[in-house]
Amino acid sequence: MNIKKFTFNPVSVNAFVLWDDTLECVIIDAACFYPQEEQQLKSFIETNHLKPVKLLNTHGHFDHLMGNGFVEKTWGLKCEIHKEDNFLVEQAANQAMMFGMPMPKPPKSGHFFEDGDVITFGNSTLKVIYVPGHSPGGVAFYSEIDRLLIAGDILFNGSVGRTDLPKGNHTQLISGILGKLMVLPLDVEVFCGHGLETTIGDEKRDNPFLK
Ligand SMILES: [Zn+2]
Ligand SMILES: [Zn+2]
Repeated sequence: MNIKKFTFNPVSVNAFVLWDDTLECVIIDAACFYPQEEQQLKSFIETNHLKPVKLLNTHGHFDHLMGNGFVEKTWGLKCEIHKEDNFLVEQAANQAMMFGMPMPKPPKSGHFFEDGDVITFGNSTLKVIYVPGHSPGGVAFYSEIDRLLIAGDILFNGSVGRTDLPKGNHTQLISGILGKLMVLPLDVEVFCGHGLETTIGDEKRDNPFLK
C-alpha cells in the first residue's frame, strides 16, 4: 500500500490518499479548504492515474471534512464515518462559521462503519478501530500488513486528542488508546490528524499522557 499525506486548511489537518497496485485509492479526511488545495488533491490523483473508490472520515470535526463537498462533486463519493459522529457532520457548517472558517454544508454521510469492520479497496484492507473520547465516533484505520495506522485526532506524536469539545471524554480516550492502539506491534507507523508521524513503540515509551 502507498500513502500520500497532504496538510490542508487554516488548522493544518493531515489528509491522506492510500492506494495499491490496482490504482484504486481511498481518501481519508479530505480536509482541503482553499481552491489550490482542492487542485493539489485532484492533480495528485490524476497524475498518478488513481481511481478514488471511498471517502473515509476518522471523525466528524468540521476541519477534517472541509473537502467532502469537493470530493463528492469531483468523484461522486459520499463520506463513510462512525454513526456516533454523524451529528457533527450535520453541524459542521455552523461549527466552521463559529471558528471563522465558513464552509458550505458538507454532503450527508453515505455509509456508517463500526468497530472491527474491514474496509476494502483494490487488493487492500483497512480495519476500523473505534476509540471514542476526542469525539464520540472517533476511529483509527489499521493495516496490519503494511504496519500503518491512520489515527485521526485520537493519538498524536507526544500527545493525545483534546477532550474539551462537546461529548469529549478523557478517561474513555485514554483507556481506548491503551486497550486498542498500544497493543499493536511496536513498529506500526502512526499517521496523525495533525503534526508529524510517530510509531506505536515511540508513543508507548515517551507519550506523557499514557503513563
Ligand atoms: Zn478533531
Ligand atoms: Zn483535528
